[in-house]
Amino acid sequence: MALTIRDDLSDLEGYHSAQVTVDVRLNTNESPYPPPPAWREAFLDELGRVPFHRYPDREARALRTAIGELHGVGPDQVLVGKGSNEVLQAACLAFGGHGRTVAVFEPTYALHSHIARITGTTVAVGERAADFTLDLDEVRRVLSTTAPAITFLTSPNNPTGLVEPREAVEAVLGMAPGLVVVDEAYAQFAPWSSLSLLADDRPLVVTRTFSKTWSMAACRLGYLVGPAEVVAQLERVVLPYHLDAASQIAGRLALRFQAEMEARVAAVVGERERLLAGLRRLPVEVWPSAANFVLFRPLSGEGAAAWKGLVERSVLVRDCSSWPRLTGCLRVTVGTPAEDDAFLSALAEVL
Ligand code: PMP
Repeated sequence: MALTIRDDLSDLEGYHSAQVTVDVRLNTNESPYPPPPAWREAFLDELGRVPFHRYPDREARALRTAIGELHGVGPDQVLVGKGSNEVLQAACLAFGGHGRTVAVFEPTYALHSHIARITGTTVAVGERAADFTLDLDEVRRVLSTTAPAITFLTSPNNPTGLVEPREAVEAVLGMAPGLVVVDEAYAQFAPWSSLSLLADDRPLVVTRTFSKTWSMAACRLGYLVGPAEVVAQLERVVLPYHLDAASQIAGRLALRFQAEMEARVAAVVGERERLLAGLRRLPVEVWPSAANFVLFRPLSGEGAAAWKGLVERSVLVRDCSSWPRLTGCLRVTVGTPAEDDAFLSALAEVL
């Protein structure tokens, strides 16, 4: 067929994260624990009463109200989507596009650049310092030379695990000429959140997801909190009825299980520290983490070989070894204690 993808996407690769059948899957930062059984019961019960021949509530009013209550804002300050990726896409569609630029600071979550490109937006790439912290001189240089419509921050950052300090986010807000998006997919594992910086007259939005802390990756549900004025503009670019009835119900019911969610987060944070301590006993370089994953690099420099050795032992982690700025690195998601022990002993063998 003589069909070709858009010229500006000719070298674009799709999203790659191996989906291999293994006993221990620690490569996509999901929760190792399923949602509470009472949530499943309530969800299936409500699902059984959905009028499936009708479109869902287009405005997802009940879900947005419940999320707003969680963060002390009204439903008009909440945009929901099919995963936070869809919410990030809405931001690029509404504020990016042809002739506009977004700024990212690498290494960071690859989908920010990827989604920007798909939406026809130019990507300005800034470099983080060697220790992966944000270099504010570099931020100033990138923002002043490219005037991005959107500046993306990720806190905690993926795949490094580092949390952005409040002063850094405030400094970026002071310099950014357009919207600042703080991607907080992992914020519940971290000591502070940019939600505390939100204000009606500040061009800041914070994105969150149900995929990690809420143990609901299968449902595809994410959201953004920000000024009502910004949310109203984002709503103009999302497709009608984009959020199906099942995801709306799932999210609304999940919010009734806040205590269970917090207990899961506490367990994962405790386990993360044990995993970090285990890694520090092995011949690897390890970065501190405020998320539910840990970035590490075998001192041998053989990241790809270590990844393969782990797969042979039925353990799957994320292979970042060929990514720019992350040569030789692997990223492991915090699992259950048994999964993490399996990972640590497989890694000790491999190394
Ligand atoms: N942001 C970051 C930083 C992520 O790591 C992820 C998941 N890998 C997402 C957003 C997207 O998550 P989801 O679409 O499942 O909400």
